[in-house]
Amino acid sequence: MWVSQSVAELQGSLRSCWKSSTSIGLVPTMGALHEGHRSLVRRARNDNDVTICSIFVNPTQFGPNEDFTRYPRALERDLALLEAESVAGVFVPTPVDMYPSGFDTRIDVGELGRIIEGARRPGHFSGVATVVTKLFNLTRPSRAYFGQKDAQQLAVIRQITRDLNIPVEVIGCPTVREPDGLALSSRNMYLSPSERLAATVLFRALNAGRDAYRQGERTNAQVRDAVTVVVQSERLAVLDYAEVVDPDSFSSDDPCTDRSIIVIAARVGTTRLIDNLTVSAEYEHQGPRTLHRQQRTGTLPSQL
Ligand code: AMP
Repeated sequence: MWVSQSVAELQGSLRSCWKSSTSIGLVPTMGALHEGHRSLVRRARNDNDVTICSIFVNPTQFGPNEDFTRYPRALERDLALLEAESVAGVFVPTPVDMYPSGFDTRIDVGELGRIIEGARRPGHFSGVATVVTKLFNLTRPSRAYFGQKDAQQLAVIRQITRDLNIPVEVIGCPTVREPDGLALSSRNMYLSPSERLAATVLFRALNAGRDAYRQGERTNAQVRDAVTVVVQSERLAVLDYAEVVDPDSFSSDDPCTDRSIIVIAARVGTTRLIDNLTVSAEYEHQGPRTLHRQQRTGTLPSQL
C-alpha cells in the first residue's frame, strides 16, 4: 500500500492507473477510522479495480470555535486498518500542501449550504465542497463514496458534481450503527461513559419520528414534535435542531413523503452529534442507488 504525503507523490502513485483507465474508487475521510469508514472502503473495493483513501482533517470546514485542534488523529492505526482492507494507497496531505500560500478560491454551494446544518456551521459546506473538489481533481476517481450519516454533506457533494459537471459517480452508503443504535462517529470518543449512554437518544428520537409518520402524521411540525419530546427527556442532551427534509434539497417546506428524512443535531455534554433516518423504513431498505457488483451478477451483497 502506498502512502503519499504530498500532491506530487500522489500524482506519481496514480499515473499508471490513469494511463491504463483502471477504475478508481475514492473514499475521502478525516481519519480516526471506524466501521463506518470501513464499510465505505469495502463498497469501493467491490465496485472498482483500485480503492484509494484520503485522510485529511480539513481546517477550512471547521468554524473558529469548533474542534479542529482536538479532532482525533490516529494515523498509524488508520494505515494498518486500510492495509488490512487491501486499499491500494492512501493520500495524507498536510494543510500547507492542500492550501499553499496564495490559495484563495472557495466553492459557494448556495442555498443547500446555508440551511439546516449549514445555518449552524457557517462556511462548513463551502469548506467541504472545496476540499472534495480538490480531492476529485487530484485523484480523478471513477466513483467516490460518502456516508448517508452525513446526509446534507452527501447532498452537497451530489449538487456540486452535477452543477460543475465533475465526472465522478457519487455513491451514498448506509449508516453503520452500534448495536444500541448510536451512529458510529469519530467524535463518539469524546463521550464520557454516561454521555455515551445518553447519546442513544438521537436514534431513539429519530425512531419516535418514524413512528409518528407510520401513525399518519404528515407535517414537518408533527414529526418534529415527536422527535423533540424524546430528546427533551434526556437530561444530558440538548437539541440543536430536528427537521424533516427532502434528501436532495434539504427543504423542510413540503409535507413528509416516504422519501423524506428526519435530520437531527444535539449536544450530549459538550459533544455535538448529528444523525438522520428516513421517515419510512421501507424506503431505507431499498438501499443505496448504485448496485453492488455481486447484486448485478445475482449473488448476495457482501455484509460488513
Ligand atoms: P469523516 O471521517 O467523519 O469525515 O467521514 C468520512 C466519510 O465516512 C464520510 O462520507 C462520512 O459520511 C462517512 N461516515 C462517517 N460515519 C459513518 C457511519 N457511521 N456509517 C457510514 N458512513 C460513515
